[in-house]
Amino acid sequence: MEQITVKASQSSYKVSVGAGIRHRLADFLPKTYQNVFIVSDTRIAPHYLDDYIASLLPNAKVTKKIIEPGEAAKSKEMYFDILDSMFEAQLDRKSLVLALGGGVIGDLAGFVASTYMRGIDFIQLPTTILAHDSSVGGKVAINHETGKNLIGSFYPPVAVVYDVDTITTLPEKEVRSGYAELIKEAYIGDGAFLDQLFAREKLDKGNQDQLIKDLSSGIKVKTKIVEADEKENDMRKFLNLGHTLGHAIEAEAGYGTFTHGEAVAIGMLFALELSEKRFGANLLLDEFQSWLERNQYPLYLPDLSAARLVTRMQMDKKSENKEVHMVLLREIGQPVTEKVDHDTLFDAVTSFLE
Ligand code: NAD
Ligand code: ZN
Repeated sequence: MEQITVKASQSSYKVSVGAGIRHRLADFLPKTYQNVFIVSDTRIAPHYLDDYIASLLPNAKVTKKIIEPGEAAKSKEMYFDILDSMFEAQLDRKSLVLALGGGVIGDLAGFVASTYMRGIDFIQLPTTILAHDSSVGGKVAINHETGKNLIGSFYPPVAVVYDVDTITTLPEKEVRSGYAELIKEAYIGDGAFLDQLFAREKLDKGNQDQLIKDLSSGIKVKTKIVEADEKENDMRKFLNLGHTLGHAIEAEAGYGTFTHGEAVAIGMLFALELSEKRFGANLLLDEFQSWLERNQYPLYLPDLSAARLVTRMQMDKKSENKEVHMVLLREIGQPVTEKVDHDTLFDAVTSFLE
């Protein structure tokens, strides 16, 4: 097992990453709780909910809220629905919310916990690879029609208990999606971690030692960044490596065509190519490409138009005067934010699509 301490401004919490630790949840609780409310989805709950509940203290009262999977759950309606269930379960300020699932459940349950009676304790129990990112750093949110994650707060959990056994049932597409963000962390933070990932023939969701190593390496990079920059002023921006084109691809191809991480992987290839051109760095692009191919990442973009992708990139919140602010790398482990003008971007996207 690996344990990483994350220092937030008001408190700090431990992230524990291990195999089988769902059977001893009580060991990771910062105190005892009489009334516990657990949120999960219908794909995850049948596999792991009972183990987690059985590992709580025997006299705790437990209420379950099992919802339909998917991004649509991060809605205002679901937010109020969960709040209602929490009042029904008579949770008070000393109660606990458990978020058992991926980033959707973590963001949603965390946001509810942050506002119920001005905030009650919550614990993240991540079950996806991507959740190494979403469960650490304290950002919780739901979506508004205007955009994703626009209703939210900074509200750290009191603990994160990450049982890598749960990854065995995660669909391959979701494994790829989460690993793209791990590669991203390696590129922005840690060359040794990047070597560790590239040295592997294939991703293996059944290899617990590897998962513990990879997830905790990613969490360490993310922790360093959020500790330096808890409220997203400067450093957190670097976590957007690959996301400028990635978001544009997700939207242009139609949501659901690529998973978020698959689109980010393509966006990273683009950002790294641009970085090599601009700074003359060697960013191991061949190794990255070969790793993506070995792991069946979809790298073919179905007839997307460069002009439309660039327009989308300009609509991104980081863009000013048609210039786009992108995260690039001077070297592995040295991210920078750079302005890229329209013509340069258009030419680069056009040649990238060819
Ligand atoms: P997700 O929570 O939707 O999970 C992906 C799918 O896998 C779902 O269908 C889920 O039911 C299923 N699943 C999850 N774990 C499983 C398991 N162990 N076995 C079988 N099926 C399983 O998606 P995600 O990729 O984990 O998270 C995406 C969300 O995270 C987005 O809403 C995004 O905005 C958010 N996010 C938040 C932050 C943050 O800092 N708060 C950071 C990154 C992403
Ligand atoms: Zn992302």
